[in-house]
Amino acid sequence: MLQIENISKKYVTGDLVQQALKNVSLTLRDNEFVAILGPSGSGKTTLLNVIGGLDRYDSGDLIINGISTQKYKDRDWDSYRNHTIGFVFQSYNLIPHQTVLSNVELALTISGISKSERRKRAKKALEEVGLGDQIHKKPNQMSGGQMQRVAIARALVNNPDILLADEPTGALDTETSIQVMELLKQVAKDRLVVMVTHNPELAEEYANRIVRLKDGEITDDTNPYVVEKSKVEKPQHKNMGKSSMSIFTSLALSFNNLKTKKGRTLLTSFAGSIGIIGIALILALSNGVNNYIADVQKDTMTSYPITINAQDMDLTSVMNDGQSAAVEKENVDHKKDKVYSNTTDLEMTSSMTSSVSENNLTKFKEYIDDKDSEINKYIGENGVVYSYDTSFGVYSYDPNKKLVNSDGSSFKTEKDNSNSTFSQMTSMSSQMTSMMGGSKNGFSELMPGKGDNLVSGAVKENYDLLYGHYPEKYNEVVLVLDTNNEIRSTDLYKLGLLPANEYEKYMDEINKGKKVNPDTSKWSYEDACKHSFYLISACDYYEKTSNGTYKNISDDDQKMNKILKNNAIKLKISGVIRLKDSDNRIISQPVGYTQALTKYIIDYTNKSDVVKAQKKSKDINILSNMRFAPDGKKEKIADAKKYLNGLGVSEKAKLCKNIMNSVYGNDKQMQSQLANLTEEQLASSLDQFVNNNPDDKVMLNIYDTYISPGSYDDNMKEFGVVDLATPSSINIYVDSFEDKDGIRTAVDNYNNGAREKDKISYTDYVALLMSSVTTIINVISYILIAFVAVSLIVSSIMIGIITYISVLERTKEIGILRAIGASKRNISQVFNAETFIIGLCSGIIGIGLSELILIPSNAIIHSLMGTTDVNATIPIVAGIVLVVISVLLTLIGGLIPAKKAAKKDPVIALRSE
Ligand code: ADP
Ligand code: MG
Repeated sequence: MLQIENISKKYVTGDLVQQALKNVSLTLRDNEFVAILGPSGSGKTTLLNVIGGLDRYDSGDLIINGISTQKYKDRDWDSYRNHTIGFVFQSYNLIPHQTVLSNVELALTISGISKSERRKRAKKALEEVGLGDQIHKKPNQMSGGQMQRVAIARALVNNPDILLADEPTGALDTETSIQVMELLKQVAKDRLVVMVTHNPELAEEYANRIVRLKDGEITDDTNPYVVEKSKVEKPQHKNMGKSSMSIFTSLALSFNNLKTKKGRTLLTSFAGSIGIIGIALILALSNGVNNYIADVQKDTMTSYPITINAQDMDLTSVMNDGQSAAVEKENVDHKKDKVYSNTTDLEMTSSMTSSVSENNLTKFKEYIDDKDSEINKYIGENGVVYSYDTSFGVYSYDPNKKLVNSDGSSFKTEKDNSNSTFSQMTSMSSQMTSMMGGSKNGFSELMPGKGDNLVSGAVKENYDLLYGHYPEKYNEVVLVLDTNNEIRSTDLYKLGLLPANEYEKYMDEINKGKKVNPDTSKWSYEDACKHSFYLISACDYYEKTSNGTYKNISDDDQKMNKILKNNAIKLKISGVIRLKDSDNRIISQPVGYTQALTKYIIDYTNKSDVVKAQKKSKDINILSNMRFAPDGKKEKIADAKKYLNGLGVSEKAKLCKNIMNSVYGNDKQMQSQLANLTEEQLASSLDQFVNNNPDDKVMLNIYDTYISPGSYDDNMKEFGVVDLATPSSINIYVDSFEDKDGIRTAVDNYNNGAREKDKISYTDYVALLMSSVTTIINVISYILIAFVAVSLIVSSIMIGIITYISVLERTKEIGILRAIGASKRNISQVFNAETFIIGLCSGIIGIGLSELILIPSNAIIHSLMGTTDVNATIPIVAGIVLVVISVLLTLIGGLIPAKKAAKKDPVIALRSE
């Protein structure tokens, strides 16, 4: 039962007030066919819309099955329309871009019924109106009668209690009108049908109740239904709950709508994509440049690892102080009136000494080796390289078969020219090279690669292999040329490639003050590779003597030659490499050997007799047979006697002379007497002194002054023993400047937790050399992006306008959707879906076009820069983010128009064309 009680409705347009319904009261039965007749403008449609919950009444009450609607909220009305009411209009009001089936399904879609169920019920409804075979047609492919039947099917599909038809035959010819009326009569059998018409004959023939309306008032009712007031309970209020519509429905609706105007959608999306393209291109370019910089950084960082030496010298402070000391001070804080002292020299020396610090690399290596250490986050692809002070000598035969020692002294003539410019020069250059981390004999260890690779990729990247191959075994080395294929002649001499006598001849002439004009020598790669070196480990310089002690035999040429023959490792040159760029000099010496050789020597040394012997006697020096640390005076005296007895004649004489000199230093008579004594006499007087129970005090004095027991560690170092836990330097390779700064932080944190003597200090040479470029690039791209962002804002405003136009175009659709129960939210959802699709298209088109544009752009960049190192590419994440941004911006742009659409009065929307 539907009760209309004293309902009034007026329309106010400007000054004009139109009373469409005046105090209308009408009670409708649950099951009857009511026809409402009346002239145009009498309020028929208004009454129908009020009954259908499409329009609101001003006063009175609409009571549905005893439930008052006075307190109904929007969503109650939506649900009421969706579940209780079916609408049929004069102008069919089908959605043109949806198929017949979809049109019918729509009402079910809004009530959130599953797809298969929807399909089934929609098909059944269409079959019932006799259109079972036309379900895939679009409305504009049908006749008026057929369209009206679709509309009836749509109205009935939800199985509503009430069917409202507003002049359903108004646009149909007589014959089809009759068909439609028959259909409605059928429908009215089991529900309430209210039909507005101005055709009295049809009304009289089909309806079983006719209500006449005039100027908003009921003038006649052929079959009134009077319910006794007392019998009716007081109207109750009950909410209907909400109708719902899934996101997919709104997407499908909008997608189909957009499909009907492909051209415009494409253009809109393209316009919207321009901003995205701009940003994508800038990102791609800055990404390319940043990658390039990262590569350059990596290159830089491979040639400048962070080096932590066992002994660190703070070069920055020395360099600063050194500069000021080198020249006279520009400003002094005293008058120029007396003699003043310039103290900069002392200051500099002091800063030199104070800037040298010892690093406990044993502890630090433990820290690095711990996988959980903070520092491991920053270590790059090439990892950490530990260097050890292996000591070895390298010899080779010059073209005249003369043996040359690679430490710069030719085998025999070491002592001859100890005062020459040459030796000064070599000692200077060796100091420099050892400061640069190289070794003085022209050999430097190649940076090892990852895993089993003997040679790091960093070396292979920065050097061209000219001939042969990189070392694959411990006894293979490479010859390292500079960018001009050259090696310094001093080095060539040391390596035995240049004839020693020729080189020495030049040095002689230089010493005599003559000017020399040496010829350039040259070798084919093949010839150079035929040269070989002979390596002698430090431990091999020691030989056991008859009395059980060990002796250094490096001065004994005969013995050395034997060792050279029997023990030396023959090193072959396996290849020749050339430095690509003098900025990236990774190998400091002309010959590069691998860590395999280092390991071999370490192993060899540990197995050698001399090392084994010393390891066995931890307390006694195997070189002198003395205790390293005698416990008391007695032992010291005994050691002193043993030592003095063990000396040779000339050694004894020398010591005796020294002792005498220190005792009788001022006595001229004694001095001249001493000078007359022979070596034998001096030696025997020493023997006499020792064997005649000398004073303990004197012996202790002699022990402390003239006899050094050495130390176990010194001896081991001398024999070339290396403890793998104690590197001489640690080279940490990082991939970027940021990581380098990270290492600095990690070391700072390490130092904070370490004891004072374990703190690590090192010099950051790269920071001294360069400043970061990345920041500049980033700032520039941010600025560019800010500019381009403006175009994004413009495009989202444009999207807003276009959505607004779409809203205007789809006004009718809004009305239809509202009539079949869609809520305001559903409506805005439909339009948001439309902007979502457009935004997505813009984003995808934008990224797609950018990728296309990048193909020729990269070609241009490559030809302009003359390198293929810079590649503009859009990072995947950035691409996705840009699409998301595009969607968000268009959504925002369409938000206001979508809201406007939702607010549209459904009645006005339906009236619009
Ligand atoms: P009918 O359907 O009987 O032809 P309507 O119910 O459509 O009449 O209209 C009743 C009266 O209300 C008419 O005078 C019409 O001009 C007026 N009217 C209807 N809708 C509006 C509206 N949205 N704004 C102003 N006046 C309206
Ligand atoms: Mg009307």
